[in-house]
Amino acid sequence: MVFYSPGRTTSYPDEPPHSGIRYHYLGGGNEVGNVGCVFEDKLGTRMLLDYGLAPTDPPKYPHESPYVKDAVITHSHVDHLGMAPWLCSNHRTTLHGTPLTAEISHMMWNDCYKVSRIEGYPLAWDKRDIDIAISSWNTHKFGDTWHKDSWKLNLSRAGHIPGAAMLNVETDTHKLLFTGDFDTRDSQLVSGAEPEKCDILFIEGTYGGKDHPNQEDTIKSFVDRILEISDRGGTALIPAFANGRTQDIVMTLHKYLPELDVHVDGMGKQIAKLQMKHPEFLRSPSDLEEAWRWCRRVSSKSDRKKALEADCIVSTSGMMDGGPAIWYLNRLRTDDRNAVIFTGYQAEGSGGRMLLNEKNVKIWGKRTPINLEVNQFSFSTHAGHSQIVEFASKCNAETVVIYHTDPNTARPRLVEELEKNGHIVHSPINGKSKIIE
Ligand SMILES: [Zn+2]
Repeated sequence: MVFYSPGRTTSYPDEPPHSGIRYHYLGGGNEVGNVGCVFEDKLGTRMLLDYGLAPTDPPKYPHESPYVKDAVITHSHVDHLGMAPWLCSNHRTTLHGTPLTAEISHMMWNDCYKVSRIEGYPLAWDKRDIDIAISSWNTHKFGDTWHKDSWKLNLSRAGHIPGAAMLNVETDTHKLLFTGDFDTRDSQLVSGAEPEKCDILFIEGTYGGKDHPNQEDTIKSFVDRILEISDRGGTALIPAFANGRTQDIVMTLHKYLPELDVHVDGMGKQIAKLQMKHPEFLRSPSDLEEAWRWCRRVSSKSDRKKALEADCIVSTSGMMDGGPAIWYLNRLRTDDRNAVIFTGYQAEGSGGRMLLNEKNVKIWGKRTPINLEVNQFSFSTHAGHSQIVEFASKCNAETVVIYHTDPNTARPRLVEELEKNGHIVHSPINGKSKIIE
């Protein structure tokens, strides 16, 4: 059980730093996801960047946040905002983010709450706290400047998913840039992030040491594979995350395989509607609208049965840990013309990883052998190693803090290359404060 006793169990120092900028990771410093980073100057102006929980089994929670009047939420993935209701309920913190992030947030919190009940894992907040969090938003468009004491702040496009933002902070002494989850490459849904000059760059290093395969090659082999399955009379089940990946995959299928019959199920349907309400965060609003009109949205039991005859079904959950994807798999598994096509990383312990490694999945709690072909393609919207290194160099950052990364494999390779390029590199550890002069 997580016990946070507001103000008493935090490891954050009481006094502001004597000089420079202090940063302190509550989570996500030396791990992927679960992000929370407090930063503060000598005048005691203090802010929190993101406050998420990692929806692993069991979930991971960040350390308790000290009192913060303001927090910036970079984007609407649960590992960046899952703990925000606790913050708003206990500290009456104002949440800053883009209007789209704010709109999607309550869906993510509701889903997080629902999953915690089903899986039986503890949450440090309850349903009422979601209402408080929803009323705590102060939204900002990209490029609009706002002030906090003497700091000047603004958000800019991070790529990754629609509404995802990088945070720029100008203090009296330093210019800081926090990337949040970011990608400099365009996807179907969003355009990539642009570098900005800064003194201190806080950059996510999920893909440190790894470069993505060429995007066009990935799309081509994905499309060829789907065609093969449909040509033999099978259905391709495509598990996809609701927030970003579902829409990206539907747009890809619409662009390259418009002749196919594609059905979409899961929370990604509601999220697409919210994205279309905020076209300024999309690379091409008309492309998403057309793709969305073209695909068949599943909204009833009979729709679900009809989808079993389709060429493709795009559905949550992205890692086969529940959601309609499990219902479909249970129906599709008896015909070996069908196949499962993953579109992203499958975490340790997830249903998807079990399917890939052991050819079985838990269906309604029971391990069930699956004798279908399974493929995996990377549609990641995190910057790869080369993009991270190039971005840091174009930002001209004197100091680079690498977070949201595996400290044993991904980070050392980034540190090595960034130091070679002349940056001073920091490798933060959760719960430990550092000061940059
Ligand atoms: Zn994310």
